[in-house]
Amino acid sequence: MTVRQRTAFVTGAASGIGRAIATSLQAESVRIVLADRQAGAIQALASQLDGDVFPLPLDITDASAVDACLERVPAEFRDIDILVNNAGHDIGGRIRFDQGSPDDWSAIIETNLIGLMRVTRAILPGMIARGHGDIVNMSSISALRIVPEQAPYSASKAGVHMLSDIIRGELAETPLRVIEIMPGLTRTNIVTTRHRGDEEAARQYFERFGMALDPEDVARCVMFALSQPPHVQIAQMFVLPTNRW
Ligand code: NDP
Repeated sequence: MTVRQRTAFVTGAASGIGRAIATSLQAESVRIVLADRQAGAIQALASQLDGDVFPLPLDITDASAVDACLERVPAEFRDIDILVNNAGHDIGGRIRFDQGSPDDWSAIIETNLIGLMRVTRAILPGMIARGHGDIVNMSSISALRIVPEQAPYSASKAGVHMLSDIIRGELAETPLRVIEIMPGLTRTNIVTTRHRGDEEAARQYFERFGMALDPEDVARCVMFALSQPPHVQIAQMFVLPTNRW
């Protein structure tokens, strides 16, 4: 694969899809910054991964911490070739818009959209200066399909969708690529936040839908997109469980 010898910065690396992507990149000898607000979990993952990885505790809603994020990593991790904007937040479960809480909306938009923009703003100038780089934005099928009772999350992901298109356009004259991944239901904590610590409730939640992706399924798609030759840009990829449409 062409991803070897590169350096990646993965947000939300402690869990679920981000963890699976980090593990897949590490298997290809990519040097990785593991960024997540779950400091203990990324430290544990760094100890477990047998490779060149650096755990970076980072809350992507913290503007000054994001602006300084590259200063907090060792010099050999600073020239980022692959940015995986994966960290995401939801409140778990479904709730009608008129019953939702503005504080929850802020947390969702601040993480999924503004946080992603901040991290990109911190890392993209280096990619432009070096003349290469891949940005992977994890949006969601709910960016484009209507999912009732998930308005703030869907709006945040629709924002990521449009942002990805616009940045891709702005970078069209450069070798940089912007890859948007739109997964459907995937077995991770974000879906079952309200069931955390309750394995049986989480199992029943996924059973209702009959089928779900595993984080490794999404990671495989990311690796496929990253391993394309430089003139091929996988701009958008839908990844759904087979029983969805
Ligand atoms: P997980 O909850 O398993 O992983 C998300 C990780 O991001 C967690 O470690 C989480 O920490 C971290 N995180 C959340 N907010 C922040 C923040 N402000 N700063 C730094 N880290 C943060 O969920 P997934 O693996 O499913 O989520 C990965 C991405 O995939 C998200 O963008 C999600 O929206 C997207 N996605 C997921 C789908 C699914 O069905 N699972 C479907 C489509 C898209 P903490 O545990 O503290 O929240």
